[in-house]
Amino acid sequence: MAEIANCARCDAVFVKGIRDICPDCHKEEEKAFDIVYQFLRQKKNREATMAEIVEATGVEEAWIIKFIKEKRLLTTQFPSLNFPCEKCGDPITQGRLCSSCAKELKLELELHEKQQKQENEKRKTYYMFDN
Ligand SMILES: [Zn+2]
Ligand SMILES: [Zn+2]
Repeated sequence: MAEIANCARCDAVFVKGIRDICPDCHKEEEKAFDIVYQFLRQKKNREATMAEIVEATGVEEAWIIKFIKEKRLLTTQFPSLNFPCEKCGDPITQGRLCSSCAKELKLELELHEKQQKQENEKRKTYYMFDN
C-alpha cells in the first residue's frame, strides 16, 4: 500500500516515495538546481558566495544549502560555497556544525555520560545500603 505523507516544503499531501517533498516541489527544486548550476558553471561565477548566488539566481538559500549537503554542488568545485554552522554561524561546507562546535558538543556528551555513570554508581551504592 502506498504511504501518504505531507510535503516537507509546501505541506501538500502526496504519495511518499524516495523523497520527502511532493512532485511539484521536486520539479521546482530541479529547476532551482539547474538555475544555480548554470550560474556557477560560468567561469566568472565559480567563486560566488552564497549571498551572491541567491541574489543572482533568486533561488532560496535553504535550497542551495540542501544541494551542497546532498553533494550536488561540490565545494571542491566551487570553493566559496558554504553555509552557516547551526550553532555559531561560522561558514562550513559539510555536516551541521563547524569543527569547534562539533568538538564542544562531543565534550558535552562525554561529560553527560560521565555524570550519568556517576549517578548510576551512586544509585548502586544506595541500593547496597538499603539492603
Ligand atoms: Zn510540495
Ligand atoms: Zn560552530
